[in-house]
Amino acid sequence: MQGGLIVQKYGGSSVANIERIQKVAERIVNYKKKGFSLVVVVSAMADTTDELIEMADKINPEAPEREMDMLLSTGEQISVSLLAMAVHKLGVEAISFTGGQVGIITDGNYTKARIVKIQAEKIREELKKGRVVIVAGFQGITIAHDITTLGRGGSDLTAVALAKELAANECEIYTDVEGIYTTDPRIEPKAQKIKMITFDEMLEMASLGAQVMQPRSIEVAKKFNVPIHVRSSFSQNPGTMIVKEAVKMEGAVITGVTLNKNEAKITICDVPDRPGAAAHIFKELSEGGVNVDMIVQNVSHTRKTDLSFTIPKADVSKTIKITKKTAKEIGAGEVLQDEDIARIAVVGVGMKSHPGVAADMFETLAENKINIEMISTSDISISCIIKKKFVETAVKELHEKFKLAK
Ligand code: ADP
Ligand code: ASP
Ligand code: MG
Repeated sequence: MQGGLIVQKYGGSSVANIERIQKVAERIVNYKKKGFSLVVVVSAMADTTDELIEMADKINPEAPEREMDMLLSTGEQISVSLLAMAVHKLGVEAISFTGGQVGIITDGNYTKARIVKIQAEKIREELKKGRVVIVAGFQGITIAHDITTLGRGGSDLTAVALAKELAANECEIYTDVEGIYTTDPRIEPKAQKIKMITFDEMLEMASLGAQVMQPRSIEVAKKFNVPIHVRSSFSQNPGTMIVKEAVKMEGAVITGVTLNKNEAKITICDVPDRPGAAAHIFKELSEGGVNVDMIVQNVSHTRKTDLSFTIPKADVSKTIKITKKTAKEIGAGEVLQDEDIARIAVVGVGMKSHPGVAADMFETLAENKINIEMISTSDISISCIIKKKFVETAVKELHEKFKLAK
């Protein structure tokens, strides 16, 4: 096929209403007329997924996860069918499918299922007929025919996985900003668009809170070397290329600053200082499916010590339940929760060869009278937990300090 195959993904804001869906249809038809084959992955319209979660919470805050997936997958069914109708209206043949219909087979880990394989014959057949194939993002099906979802932001993963499976010539992620920026452009208007970023840096930024790409989609892109073009569905401008190796601006130590307000801090007080205490706590949490992140444990001077860790906010009630039980079992004290925190981080491969990044970061926070509650580092990032009310100031000051501002 002349022009080759493009996988395009449109996020929720790109299909937020009828007009936006019609605009997306026009873009699709333009590509089609240039001779490209198109597989289009679509998210649920704007806030649909959040609204569905809210409704479920009102009925049962501990709803079975299988039923959550059954519910959440409906959001994408609405947008794919409407988009297919809009493309038809413009005189081009299009056909919409659920994840299950196009053979996106996952494990049974509801709400965060992993793709096991993709049986893409159906997509290939439809492409051969010259149709635009429109696939519901964020969802799959188990071998037992239960509907699953791939975790929040999971349409990104659907797109990358399909681009790999179909050996697409391009994978485009259309969103409501013009690409990947040095920090969230909605928080810092001086943020700059990055032309090219490596999988490693993007993975780090995404994992630390830059919601523009789902972290797991970048893991898959990295594993199979699928370059991604992140760009705006509101303009024709080129966006950011996420690639294996990027040409760096000379002297740039930090690539981006991220923030995340979706974590909570749990503290178990007076944990007995003996082998096996931490093992017991974290084994129970992992068996309960809680994703623990930063962990801080102090040296004990009294044979007892406090142990703090962060978790996704969505897991707070589950975590408290499990931790209270284990705390009792090991003879620890109370369990405290703090949802009034945020994480800020600086990310950049440049810090590997540049000493002093941590010192600069801590100094910047200190100058702004922002207290650091927890610190964690990786090869290419440094994160701090601070009080939530300081997060915007911290982002702006760090962005300035590391010379990322326009
Ligand atoms: P979509 O609905 O298209 O999937 P998302 O809301 O998931 O879009 O992601 C886009 C949003 O990510 C942007 O509106 C922006 O506020 C946010 N964002 C956070 N960090 C960054 C960053 N470093 N660069 C670009 N956008 C970012
Ligand atoms: N609709 C899903 C969500 O809001 C998936 C996505 O948008 O990528 O998380
Ligand atoms: Mg998204």
